[in-house]
Amino acid sequence: MQSHTMELPRLIVVGENNMSEIGEFLFSLNKPKIVSLISGINVQKILKLKIEKSLKLKKIKFVWHTSKDNQVDSIKQIEKDVKKDHSNLVVGIGGGRSVDTAKMVSFNLDLPFVSVPTAASHDGMASPFVSVKTDKPHSIVATAPLGVFVDIDVIKKAPSKLLASGCGDLIANIIAVKDWQLGHKKTGEYYGMYSADLATMSAKIVMENSSKYSKEGLDARVIVEALISAGVASCIAGSSRPCSGAEHLFSHALDKIAPGKGLHGEKCGIGSIMMGKLQGQDWKKIVKTLKEVGAPTTAKQIGLDKDEVINALMIAQELRPERYTILKEVNMTKQRALNLAKSTGVI
Ligand SMILES: [Zn+2]
Repeated sequence: MQSHTMELPRLIVVGENNMSEIGEFLFSLNKPKIVSLISGINVQKILKLKIEKSLKLKKIKFVWHTSKDNQVDSIKQIEKDVKKDHSNLVVGIGGGRSVDTAKMVSFNLDLPFVSVPTAASHDGMASPFVSVKTDKPHSIVATAPLGVFVDIDVIKKAPSKLLASGCGDLIANIIAVKDWQLGHKKTGEYYGMYSADLATMSAKIVMENSSKYSKEGLDARVIVEALISAGVASCIAGSSRPCSGAEHLFSHALDKIAPGKGLHGEKCGIGSIMMGKLQGQDWKKIVKTLKEVGAPTTAKQIGLDKDEVINALMIAQELRPERYTILKEVNMTKQRALNLAKSTGVI
């Protein structure tokens, strides 16, 4: 059997109104003297003072870096700047982009990295994967975070559609795991039952509680923990396999065809409906769950037109030919794509 590496986060804190304890958290990881903080402008406006105060208490020096987008050039520039900090730790604070940037920069500079998500819109907070705009349309592998620090109070204040998008990214796991099983059967690739079950569990917790959420609102803490656990499932699998199948390829195809329309988790949720049907899963239950958590189930809701959906379905598998998914088993002609999207109510 081939050897298999599992790189996991060492310390994860999920608290409420605990941002003022971040200094202590970072200190407990590797007693840093200087940290490089990467975040967007909005996050800085809200959290800067609190974070600085907490760092000063532990005598940790800091340098802020502002992340603007996830284009390669912007990340390279931040990397150059961070190098000059001579810091012992890179911290990404934000909804996704800043965490991704920090993950990439720390990987390239061989520094430990800490993830501080301020929104729970996808499962990247604890995973070793980054979505950067490169020639590769899908995520690339970096390092798992050394620590993950979450203030649920901050997550709750973010727009609710972000948390709903996180649910879409979780539901995707049931499609991804089924694709992984198919790939294992067809190509003999490694399949990890433990990480597959762990990823499935994160999806199930949303599916089983969605009707409650539709009445009482989303439970931010449960969703954050499920997203962390999904990231850990990827760490254990040593690849994004348990959390990324054909529905993610569909989302990546849309990133290419219709950039800027819809959030990652929203697109994966819609993709899950259609791929679920192809896989013979209970796709109507996926629709029901997405509706109950307040995530979109139609192309129109995220501003996509019919042709964009059809084209995305047709090119999805080509974007990552080595990843065996249900789309390999279907000759996705224009007509078939149209029928699939129509019959599931996506268009
Ligand atoms: Zn995802």
